[in-house]
Order: sequence, then C-alpha cells, then structure tokens
Amino acid sequence: MNHVGQEVTSSKVETATPVAPILNSIKQKTLLRTMNCVGIALHSGEKVSLTLRPAEANTGIIFRRTDIPGSKEIAASWENVVDTRMCTTIGNEDGVTISTVEHLMAALAGCHVDNVYVDVNGPEVPVMDGSAQPFVFLIECASLQEQDAPRQVIEILKPIRVEIGDKMAELVPRDTFSVGFEIDFDCEIVAKQSITVTMINGTFKKEIARARTFGFMHEVEQLQAAGLGLGGSLDNAVIVEDDKVLNEDGLRYDDEFVRHKVLDAVGDLYLSGGMIMGSFKGVRSGHTLTNQLLRALFADQSTWRYVDFADRDSQAEPNLAAKSVEVVNLATATA
Ligand SMILES: [Zn+2]
Repeated sequence: MNHVGQEVTSSKVETATPVAPILNSIKQKTLLRTMNCVGIALHSGEKVSLTLRPAEANTGIIFRRTDIPGSKEIAASWENVVDTRMCTTIGNEDGVTISTVEHLMAALAGCHVDNVYVDVNGPEVPVMDGSAQPFVFLIECASLQEQDAPRQVIEILKPIRVEIGDKMAELVPRDTFSVGFEIDFDCEIVAKQSITVTMINGTFKKEIARARTFGFMHEVEQLQAAGLGLGGSLDNAVIVEDDKVLNEDGLRYDDEFVRHKVLDAVGDLYLSGGMIMGSFKGVRSGHTLTNQLLRALFADQSTWRYVDFADRDSQAEPNLAAKSVEVVNLATATA
C-alpha cells in the first residue's frame, strides 16, 4: 500500500491576515479551566492521572511530578530532553523525569496552547489511545482563553539538516508551519508512505491527531520481556504481525503509520518553546533526530529568529532561496 507524496492542506486558506497563516492569533493562549484525565502508562502499565491547569502568559508548558513531594518543575524544552530511545523523556537537574510527552505536546501545539501546567502523578504521561485525540478533546473541554502577550514564534531563516546514516531531519524557511515525513519499512502494509501536512485551518485535528502509535508484534514481545511496554495493548497501539494489522477495527487512516510520525514530529518540535514558522521534513527519522535538529538550530544564531509582529512588515523577508543547507552529520553522535 503506497501513499507517496500526499499533500494535505485545507480547502480554505486564510488570506485575510497580513501575518503568517501559522497564527490564528498573535496572542498567547492558555486553558480557561482545569481538566483531568486518567490513563495507563505505556511502559509501567500503571494508572496515571494527568491534570492540565491554566498558566500565566510567558509560562510556557511546565510539567510537574505530583507524586514526588518538593520535586522541581520540568520545562517542556529541547534542552531538558534526556532520553529519546522509545519516546521523548524530559528531566530536571535532580534527575526527575517524565516520559512520553510527545503526544500531549502535539495536541498542545495543534490546539495553539502556549501556557499550561501539566501535573502527572507518575513517571509517564498516560498513553490514552496511542494518539493525540484524547488530549485534543481534553483541551477543547477546557476551552482556551487569550492572554495579553504576543505569541512566541520561531522563524526559520535558512535550511538546517541533521543526518544519521540514511535518516534525515530538516527545517527550511516557509511562511507557515508544515510537517512532511517519509517512512520506509520492510513490511508490506507499512512499506513506503509519505505525507506533507500544512498546519492551518484545523488540519492537525482532522488529519493527524487520531493517528495512533504503532509497533510490530516481535518488537512488543522483546519489549515486554525487558519489562517495558507493559501497558501496551491493542487499545493504545496499532500492532502489525506478518503484514496484517491485528486491531479488530483496522486503521483510522490508510496511511496512519506515517501520519503518526508527523504527530510525533509536531510534538517534539513544540519543545522548541514556540510555534515554528518553517517546514519540517523527516525521512526514516524519529525522536532522536528531531531533538538533534533543535539542538543544531539553537546552536546557530544565524538559522532562526523570534518573529516580532510589531514591525514584521518592515523587516526583510526570510531568505527563501538560500542554497546552503547546513548539514550536521550525527554519525558519531549518541541519542
Ligand atoms: Zn508517538
């Protein structure tokens, strides 16, 4: 089943606003009210409670471990990423960590939430159904409120790319936020899939949010033998065995696998600390390369800037024709 080169946008393109279409508002937003949900932790298999609370302007996304008295907050930042092997894990200087933040981060990015406290009473964000949809629902139930501060938007000024072997992740200048992905698995049903999604007019919610995490049966068995993935089941992942999807109801999208990779990238990119104005592309990449890409981006001041909407019209347009792609080879780098 090949789905090569799909381009997903909305039929209605915003044209009225003079600023970048990434912004449905140039003001920051938080939740109107506190919301809570309870779910299973993917790796420990234990029940975890997650609470989203409104936060003041310029707070950002702040995680708190409520099961560890007095533990310091963990800001959702690329700098605080401590592990990217199975999922994205963030931690603070005391070694307190929270794992599997990426699907919640994707929902917060997709719903344009700038400021929120995320209280979790365990080491992992609950996996819910393996997608971002339950978190989108939670955010919609909480409703959003606009705050009196401009949204932080990171404009990509020139292309930057990281590579490990045949895996690649890059960001290039663009006047909106889009995420493209290519996967290539040695398995007929997953196989080669690619998609590019421009995040405007609710495309995240419609096209990406419901895509579930996926795994192969032999990997699940290995994981569980190692004491991991104990909460994993057909309720929270698409499981593939011998070119067949084991889930009774099948797939939510024909190319659900590559759409989930887009979802992961949206979540991991939101660890940049703001909305990105640029185009991301990942080829066979994952959490590790997306984090390495953000590290490379913020290490080079010439590749990005914060958008100042107050005087954006008077500023030079980004150099869309830049030919020099900054390539950072990570062949010897570790996760
Ligand atoms: Zn994922």
